[in-house]
Amino acid sequence: MRILVINAGSSSVKFSVFDMDTQTTRFKHEIEIGTIGFKATLAQIPVALVEAGETRIDAIGHRVAHGGEHFRDATLVDDDVIAAIEVLAPLAPLHNPPALYGIETGRIYWPNAPQIAVFDTAFHASIPACAHTYAVPQAWRKAGLRRYGFHGTSHKYVMERVAQELKASTRDLRIISCHLGNGASVCAIDRGVSVDTSMGVTALEGLVMGSRSGDVDPGIFGYLQRSLALSIDEIENALYHESGLTALSGLGNDMRRIETAAAEADPQAQLALNVFAYRARKYIGAYAAAMGGCDVLAFTGGIGENSASMRRRICDRLEFLGLYLDEDRNSSVKLDGFAAPQIQQPHSRIRVIVTQTREQWMIAKEVHRFLSVQADKRPDQLPPAIPVAVSAHHVHLTQASVEALFGAGCQLTKQRDLSQAGAWTAVETVNVIGPRGIIRSVRVLGPCRRSNQIEVSATETFTLGIEAPVRISGDTADTPTLTLEGPAGRLQTNGLIVAQRHIHMQPEDAKRFGLADRDLVDVAIDSPPRTTVFRDVAVRIDPQFKLEMHIDTDEANAAAISHGGDGDLMLTLCHARLTACKPVRNIFITTES
Ligand code: AMP
Repeated sequence: MRILVINAGSSSVKFSVFDMDTQTTRFKHEIEIGTIGFKATLAQIPVALVEAGETRIDAIGHRVAHGGEHFRDATLVDDDVIAAIEVLAPLAPLHNPPALYGIETGRIYWPNAPQIAVFDTAFHASIPACAHTYAVPQAWRKAGLRRYGFHGTSHKYVMERVAQELKASTRDLRIISCHLGNGASVCAIDRGVSVDTSMGVTALEGLVMGSRSGDVDPGIFGYLQRSLALSIDEIENALYHESGLTALSGLGNDMRRIETAAAEADPQAQLALNVFAYRARKYIGAYAAAMGGCDVLAFTGGIGENSASMRRRICDRLEFLGLYLDEDRNSSVKLDGFAAPQIQQPHSRIRVIVTQTREQWMIAKEVHRFLSVQADKRPDQLPPAIPVAVSAHHVHLTQASVEALFGAGCQLTKQRDLSQAGAWTAVETVNVIGPRGIIRSVRVLGPCRRSNQIEVSATETFTLGIEAPVRISGDTADTPTLTLEGPAGRLQTNGLIVAQRHIHMQPEDAKRFGLADRDLVDVAIDSPPRTTVFRDVAVRIDPQFKLEMHIDTDEANAAAISHGGDGDLMLTLCHARLTACKPVRNIFITTES
C-alpha cells in the first residue's frame, strides 16, 4: 500500500509517499507557502509527484492539528468530518484551515483514494480530568475549554521508538517526552498513555517557543488592556508571533544564533537560554511528580535533537530524580535516520534518549492501521456479543499477608468458583483502612498471589481518602499504601488500584476481533433504555480465559446496569459489543529508510 501524507502547516506544506509493504519512504518534499497562498501551493503536490514518477497513491493521510474532544483516533474524512474540523478552526487558527485545504486537494486529485485525518490532539485523549480541567466557570468548560494538547503524533512516535530502543513494552515505562522545536511541548506518558502535556486548549500554553510565549499569567489580558490600551487581538497576536525566544533574545527564533550570541556575552541571549531551559526543567519535575517517577527522558524536535548545550542546561539539577547525564555521550550525539542514542551515565536511574521525530511516518502508520482494521471488519468475522460482569471491591493477598491478617498457618477457605478458570471467592474478608475512612468486609479472592492488590471503585478512593491509579490487574508497581485489617492483625501494604475496565478473551476470539493482548478498544453496552459506550477498555488474552467484560460498580451505575454491588463478581444480563479498536501494540518495529 502506498500512502501519501500531507502535512499542511502555517508556513509550509510537507508531503511524503510511503510504501507500507516495504516500510520505506519513496518520496519526501517541502514547499514554502510564500506569497502564492495555500491553494496554489497545494496544487503543486500532484505536479511534484508526477515529476517524481509517484503516480500510484492508495490512500492519503492528513495531519490535522485540532480534533477537539470528538476525534480520539484516526478518522475517515467525509463531509461531516470536514465540517467538524472547520468548527474547531478557531482553536487552531494557524493549523486547521491549511489542513482543510490539504483535504480539498486530496479530494480533487485523488477522488478514489480514502482520506484519513490524523489528529495531533488524539494521543492526549487519555489525559485524566484532574489534568485536563481548567478551574474556570462551568459555562466556559461546557463551551469546550479544556486541555487538549498537541504534538500528539510526535510524542506517540517518541514513546514507541524509546520502547523499541530499550526492548521494553510501552506499558512498563514512564516517559517524559520533550519536543523542542519552533513549537515546543512536554508530555508525560505513563505506561503507554498520555497523562499530561504542556500545551492546552490552544498551542500557546506551556514551554517557551520560537515566537510563542508559553505560560503567562492570564491576568495580563486585563492589565495590558488597561495600562497599554491593547486590544485582545493585539495581545493574542503578540503572544503567538512576537514572544518566546524571538522576544527574549531580540535576535529571532533561531536557537543556533541565540547560542552563539550568548557565548559572546549577549545578556539578552543568555536570558533567553536560561528562561527556555528553566521552564522545560520545571515541567519535567512536575511530570515526574505527576507519574510518581520517571524511567525515560526523551528529547526530539530541532532543538532537542541538535542542541547538546540546551539538553545539558535542562538536565542540570535533575540529579535529585536520579538523572545523571554523560557529558561525552551528550556532546557526541549525531542523529542519523532512526538512531536513538542513550546519553545518561551508567548509574543513572533515568535513561535519557535523543531521537529525530517522524511525524509523517507515524501518520502513514496510523492510516495503514486504520485501513487494516476496517478491512478486517467483515460481517462473517464479527465475534459474538460479550457477557458483562460487574466486579465489586475485592482484595488479592500473598500467603504471608493471609497469615498476618488471619493467623499463622492460615489458608484461605474457598467459598465459590468465579467464571474465570482457577479464580474463586474466599470466605475471608478484611477491612480496608485509609486516612479518611474504612471500607468494611471486603471479600478476599483466591488463590494467593505474589503481591497484594486492593481493587476499589474511583468513588471508594474518596471514602478512603487516597488517590489510586487506574491499572490493569497485576500491575501494582508504585501504587499507594494503605492498611488492611483482619481478625488476627493489621498490615500496611501497597497495591491500591482502580481496575482498568477490561475484556477477558481466548486467542481465537482475539483473532476474530483482530486484537492483541493489552490493546484498547471501545465497547458499547446495551442496557435498554440506555446504551453506554466505554472507551479505553483493555483486552486481556489467555487460553484459560472465558469471554467476559469486567467493569466496576461505578461503571455499572453509569451504564444503569443492575448489580449486587457487594462482595465479588456478578454476571449481569447485559452484553457488550465492540465499536472501535485502538490497538496499543507493545513493541514497535520499523525500518523506514
Ligand atoms: P523544528 O521546529 O523542530 O524544525 O526546530 C527548529 C528549531 O531548532 C530552531 O530554533 C533551530 O534554531 C533549532 N535548531 C536546529 N538545528 C540546531 C542546532 N544544530 N543547534 C541548536 N538549535 C538548532
